[in-house]
Amino acid sequence: MSKQYQGSCHCGAVTFSLSTNLDSAVRCNCSLCQRKGIVMVTAEDDSFRLLQGEQDLTLYKWNTKVANHYFCKHCGIYTFHNPRTAPELTRVNAGCLDGIDPLALDVSVVNGAGLSSEKQP
Ligand SMILES: [Zn+2]
Repeated sequence: MSKQYQGSCHCGAVTFSLSTNLDSAVRCNCSLCQRKGIVMVTAEDDSFRLLQGEQDLTLYKWNTKVANHYFCKHCGIYTFHNPRTAPELTRVNAGCLDGIDPLALDVSVVNGAGLSSEKQP
């Protein structure tokens, strides 16, 4: 069941809202997610709204340069991204959501490493 959530980076410069179903919680084994170690949820349809902090976000692109990975340039927290396999979607750091304990979610693992042509060093 989907609910509305608000989220923020650690320093509070970046805030956003979305509707999501916590059943969408995943971890990913690609080389970037492996380093971040985060649990992500997917925003429903076009429910994602950046409320504040557009100028506080930094964009990281790598490999095919299709996905957009946004993080706060002050506190360094990854907030959300548009995945390469579905750039119209927004995936969000579940740990940024108010009232959500990402470690308590039932989390599956997506095989991002298997989707990628990346070569690990
Ligand atoms: Zn911040």
